[in-house]
Amino acid sequence: MSLPTRDALRATTPPTYRWTRHVALIVAFAAAGLAICLRVLGGLHARDAVVLVVGFLITNLGEYVAHRWPLHRPMFPRAVYERHVREHHAFFTYETMAVDAWPEIRWVLFPPWALPLLVATIVPLALLIGALLGARSAWLFVLVVIAYYALYEVLHALAHLPDDAPLARVGAVRALTHHHRVHHDPALMQRWNFNFAIPLFDALFATRYEGAPASRSGGQDHVDQIRPAAGERLFQRSDQRVGGFDAHSIDAHAARQGDEVDRRR
Ligand SMILES: [Zn+2]
Ligand SMILES: [Zn+2]
Repeated sequence: MSLPTRDALRATTPPTYRWTRHVALIVAFAAAGLAICLRVLGGLHARDAVVLVVGFLITNLGEYVAHRWPLHRPMFPRAVYERHVREHHAFFTYETMAVDAWPEIRWVLFPPWALPLLVATIVPLALLIGALLGARSAWLFVLVVIAYYALYEVLHALAHLPDDAPLARVGAVRALTHHHRVHHDPALMQRWNFNFAIPLFDALFATRYEGAPASRSGGQDHVDQIRPAAGERLFQRSDQRVGGFDAHSIDAHAARQGDEVDRRR
């Protein structure tokens, strides 16, 4: 069974779907969350810097862990794997990173309910931070998570704009999103570049992949033309033959990767 094609995915779009409503809901949830946090905090002060930086590091790690495991391995909750690998990665590859029309932003953005769910998920950690460091630190952490989410959505959307879109032509945008483009290579996505704009934990856990020329051909040649970051070696290169978009191969590869992680524990 192959992963769905773009046309097959397009056919699953409900007739009631409106990409403008999707974007508006995400903006509204993020803006409301940020406004509530800033109101409770009474603004930001220089003394908040340490908590903000530590909160960013925790969030960057959270992004890495969520992306590397539940989003790329068929584990609980399986729905996020289905949506990420079988929809997002099926729709966008290294060579076909761009949406063809605005409604296709549906396969880039998280669902509108993702942010409320994310905030609910971090409540226990925020309560722990509050108990240890005080309520202000807890609210600062929630603020960082929401700001990080909003920044991720913006940068991720930029990464999937057509090359001739004005914003996509900005060199800094392409440089910032190149790391993610490499991750969209089907042969590399299970192993490399799980952080997005700032790949701190890709560097720390040796999953950072540099290089990737702009024009490449298909198949294993992709892998040969891309260099891992200095000091890193390709992870079982032969195992990265995922058979193009063969779903069984990708699932099997994900399962093997899981086994290897388990053996290392
Ligand atoms: Zn993407
Ligand atoms: Zn991914």
